[in-house]
Amino acid sequence: MSAYPSLHMVIDGEKVSGGGRRTFPVVNPVTGETLGELPLADPADLDRALETADRGFKIWRKATAAQRAAVLSGAARLMAERQEEIARIATMEEGKPLAESRIEVMMNVGLFHFYAGECQRIYGRELVRPDGFRSVVRHEPVGPVAAFAPWNFPIGNPGRKLGAPIAAGCSVILKSAEETPASALAVLQCFYDAGLPKEVAQAVFGVPDEVSRHLLGSPIIRKLSFTGSTVIGKHLMKLSAENMLRTTMELGGHGPVLVFGDSDIDKALDTAVGGKYRNCGQVCVSPTRFIVEENIFEKFRDGFIERAKAIKVGDGLQDGTQMGPMANQRRPEAMDRLIGQAKEKGAKLGTGGERIGNQGFFYAPSVLSEIPLDADIMNEEPFGPVALINPFKGEEEMIAEANRLPYGLAAYAWTSDAKRQQRLAREIESGMIGINSHMIGGADAPFGGVKWSGHGSEDGPEGVLACMVTKAVHEG
Ligand code: NAD
Repeated sequence: MSAYPSLHMVIDGEKVSGGGRRTFPVVNPVTGETLGELPLADPADLDRALETADRGFKIWRKATAAQRAAVLSGAARLMAERQEEIARIATMEEGKPLAESRIEVMMNVGLFHFYAGECQRIYGRELVRPDGFRSVVRHEPVGPVAAFAPWNFPIGNPGRKLGAPIAAGCSVILKSAEETPASALAVLQCFYDAGLPKEVAQAVFGVPDEVSRHLLGSPIIRKLSFTGSTVIGKHLMKLSAENMLRTTMELGGHGPVLVFGDSDIDKALDTAVGGKYRNCGQVCVSPTRFIVEENIFEKFRDGFIERAKAIKVGDGLQDGTQMGPMANQRRPEAMDRLIGQAKEKGAKLGTGGERIGNQGFFYAPSVLSEIPLDADIMNEEPFGPVALINPFKGEEEMIAEANRLPYGLAAYAWTSDAKRQQRLAREIESGMIGINSHMIGGADAPFGGVKWSGHGSEDGPEGVLACMVTKAVHEG
């Protein structure tokens, strides 16, 4: 087995660690044992990163589109070459099966290749004016970006946070989650090795509240890109208001899945169960609330329970594992609390609802049904391996339930009725919707939510434009 790498920050191209800095223990979620000690930034480190980002922006905003494209496609090629090494690091830190980590690497590869093309298609426009006058609209990079990425996609999240600013001509200070630092550092290294100037992208770690207050309070930073919970997102929006920052906020969800009697139920079950337990349910677009038409409710629920029981849970590094442990100690605790309260309120537990073993953070694939709508789990993002399955009368009631919560990230629907597919696509309040499919992303597609799930998009042309501002130039 490859060893876990030593940990550091990268500030102005220098690997920074030691020097009496505080540290954070990075833990293996399979065993609970410490993999490595991560150095945490002190205020002087953050000031140095800010000063460097200021210089980095001055360099990179002048880079030609072809130079930026060369770095992005170079990083994509290196990621692909290092797929196995990076995937193993992510699985060691986060726990997900190796197969899922490998897919994450390839998602970055696809995204960096797409951005390499997209950054060469940032066109302005010329407006129609009388002779002697000229007006043009330019897109310019917004400036240094503070980017905060969570632990659930240790490779994909930092990839998104780095790729878009680099494509747009910005500099970026990345603070990836302290729980999964080595994956983020491995992604960043691909950019350096592809020729990115060291001032353009840096990595810091720290006490999250200290880092975000310090960076967002600096006049150097011009944009915040955050992925994480709605609660923290709202807090960071308030901090960002002080310096009127551009923001991209990818926040929590509570993915509704509408399953109608006219759908291919076996296909819906196979797809939804795979989607539900991917990364142990710790996915912002995880299918969560199954809103099932009452005439197929029992068949759907029983099919779900049967499939959930068959999932092989284990060490993500071992062949055949379909679901690893949860990523950190907080998650099984949250599962126990949410599932316990739902049961007290009368929900039926079909399977799971308990931890597995007494080592690491394993939790059984779980199914709850007939859950009262006032149970916390029906209103808070569970972010874990639990499906919530309730019966509903018909389309109108099902759409109302899908739109009941303030979240609006991903939604899914299963129906063979073409007219209904169109109605659902219009009526459901979400940033993304999968119809007879749970594939709702792609390098070329905008990824993001509405309502309390945030605003702005990552990926797609929208991801690059989110790191740019417009300027109107009028010549007379
Ligand atoms: P959390 O809400 O404290 O942290 C979520 C993420 O935000 C972490 O990566 C953390 O490092 C970061 N963070 C926290 N406080 C911050 C601050 N002041 N400044 C900058 N970054 C900060 O808690 P958690 O236990 O890690 O996760 C709990 C919940 O967060 C989950 O239940 C889920 O709802 C949500 N979450 C969402 C995503 C997502 O992809 N949208 C990812 C991870 C967690």
